[in-house]
Amino acid sequence: MHERSGILLLVSGPSGSGKTTLCERLATTGEAYYAISATTRRPRPSEVDGEDYFFLGMDEFKSKITDGDFIEYAEVHENFYGTLKSEVVDKINKGLDVVMDIDVQGADLVRACNDPLIQNALVDLFVTPSSEEELRNRLVGRQTDSEDVIATRMQNSLDEMQQSSKYSYLLVSADKETDFAKFNALLIAERLNQSRIK
Ligand code: 5GP
Repeated sequence: MHERSGILLLVSGPSGSGKTTLCERLATTGEAYYAISATTRRPRPSEVDGEDYFFLGMDEFKSKITDGDFIEYAEVHENFYGTLKSEVVDKINKGLDVVMDIDVQGADLVRACNDPLIQNALVDLFVTPSSEEELRNRLVGRQTDSEDVIATRMQNSLDEMQQSSKYSYLLVSADKETDFAKFNALLIAERLNQSRIK
């Protein structure tokens, strides 16, 4: 009695919002599993297969599409990216919580998924900087990107922020500790949601 099924916590937000740090920190505490996506993109030098992504060949990716192995997949910058059912479904069934760092397009696809298990597990959060100025400061503050790259990211971020109202929850980023406390509180509160308690 009072067992529950797991939560699928989708986290989106512009680059510089801090969403990846939040997801990684939550996974480090052991409170949620960080779902690893599959991609056909080549690994970057620091990336590890099975940790950052599952790096697949195009044929392998396509056969997984045919086999119905993905909850969603999308083509982004000429590469395919997708969320594998195997990263999510068993865990949710066992009552474990899964967190996903996903772009707005991917989140739309997960929301459109008609699997009742996914629908019941779904919680979506948009993380946003407090203002356009703050976003610019964060993108510039990384000091890793050229002016052009910053301008493109800025525009993409503003476009993404237009879609924040699609999400049930909005976290306006303040400082790292406050953001994480709120993020963790959302997970704890959602664990009390009766819709997932058997
Ligand atoms: P990157 O190649 O820089 O790691 O990621 C490129 C884009 O692919 C990012 O916008 C990222 O959010 C998106 N992406 C990563 N994993 C997935 C996924 O599983 N599904 C979808 N739809 N997009 C993803």
